[in-house]
Amino acid sequence: MKYCSTRGKEKNLTFKQVLFAGYSGDGGLYMPESVPKITEKELKEWSTLSYKELVFTIARRFIDEEEIPSNDLKEVVFTSLKRFRVPEVVRIEKLDGGLNIIELFHGVTLAFKDLALSVVGGLLNYFLKKDNAHITAVVGTSGDTGSAAIESIRGLECMDIVVLLPHGRCTKVQELQMTTVIEDNVHVYCVDGNSDELDEPIKKAFLDTDFVAANKIISINSINWGRILAQVAHYFYSYYQLCESVGSPVQLVVPTGAAGNITGGSLASAMGLPITLVAAVNTNDIVRRTLQGGDFSIKENVVQTFASAMDIQMPYNVERILFHFTGNDTKRVKELMNKFEKEGKVSIPNDVMKAMKEVIVGSLAVDNDHITEIMKKVLNKHNYLLCPHTATAVAYHFQQTDNSIPRGYIATASPAKFPEAVIKAGAEPVTEGVAHLENLPTKFTWMKKGDDWYSMLRTKIEEITAKKSRK
Ligand SMILES: *Cc1c(COP(=O)(O)O)cnc(C)c1O
Repeated sequence: MKYCSTRGKEKNLTFKQVLFAGYSGDGGLYMPESVPKITEKELKEWSTLSYKELVFTIARRFIDEEEIPSNDLKEVVFTSLKRFRVPEVVRIEKLDGGLNIIELFHGVTLAFKDLALSVVGGLLNYFLKKDNAHITAVVGTSGDTGSAAIESIRGLECMDIVVLLPHGRCTKVQELQMTTVIEDNVHVYCVDGNSDELDEPIKKAFLDTDFVAANKIISINSINWGRILAQVAHYFYSYYQLCESVGSPVQLVVPTGAAGNITGGSLASAMGLPITLVAAVNTNDIVRRTLQGGDFSIKENVVQTFASAMDIQMPYNVERILFHFTGNDTKRVKELMNKFEKEGKVSIPNDVMKAMKEVIVGSLAVDNDHITEIMKKVLNKHNYLLCPHTATAVAYHFQQTDNSIPRGYIATASPAKFPEAVIKAGAEPVTEGVAHLENLPTKFTWMKKGDDWYSMLRTKIEEITAKKSRK
């Protein structure tokens, strides 16, 4: 399997190359040059695999044997997914009336980011150990990515991680999940600013190509291909748990922010899995407008909602979705994205919309009042507490009269992570998996207003490089 940029400038790249790179040199994202199709026989055979086995089996189709032999790949996958709180990794809660909740949040940080980042961490570690090399991951986070990345890297020899978090703009639980990690290779900064402001010093560091090369820094935000790859597996797993018989259709409703998760679903469908998808968003509805009428346009500033991990105006992975549904037409993707970047909007051509709507068949936007209403309703009716992100997907359930095909609703985080929204919904906050955080020692550095954040970041990274080269 070889990889290329969605804008066509780079092709014939290995999995390892795209794993360690972020954006492609032409501003595009990396995608496989073709999608591996599975046969009907394989679709049947895979139905008995565990979640971990599915991750391995699917990764095998996207990573050549010469890059990682099967024994090694299997070990990396299984080891990476060891720390989940339920042995099956993904659990499905089948509530009455066809309300099937696909719980992707049983990782250490209680959000679905753990699924992909643990595997990406494992894969990076595998290559680095083999090469006897070291890298530093730099992450700006507004929520779940930072903590999941830290968990996948803490304590590793061949990686350090530097995280900048916007103080007071994540939930308290999210912040503690990052500031209570005391390993030497984890460096957390609490920044007195918002996510856009803390992105600036990071962007500046990545633009300095000499600095990037000298210090081997990488980005593992949602543009990393490895994350998308790992997110194909839970669609297969959910499908097998919900289908009436192998081959019959299932619909999956996906809380969507930067659209990485639903890109995984689109690829699962292209491999031959009989699923359709529905995208659920909050008030920040660019993905809904794109899917509904082809209106891919940035409207105004990001609105803060209870589903904060979906507070996004630029859903990066739409570019991958366009690449896929144009039939890998890099010239068209480049034209569309150039126009979007220049004018802040572009309209998606009809033929592309048509192909896309055969897989992503619906979308909905759910505002804060509706989110709390859904959380209340499901709690009263089913005695089950949703996180605010999951509530956007579950809203779709209450709009449906046709339940002839089984439907699953992806739960991207545990409600324990979002006590503010839980209280708004009139429920008692849950403490499972988070209570211990209050009593742990913390380790972090402030980046206050007036400090030179860029030079602090640079100095830290150079310190890490110097320390590593002495060893
Ligand atoms: C990241 C995240 C999302 C959005 O996922 P995308 O892949 O960016 O669409 C939704 N819910 C939660 C809890 C998340 O952490």
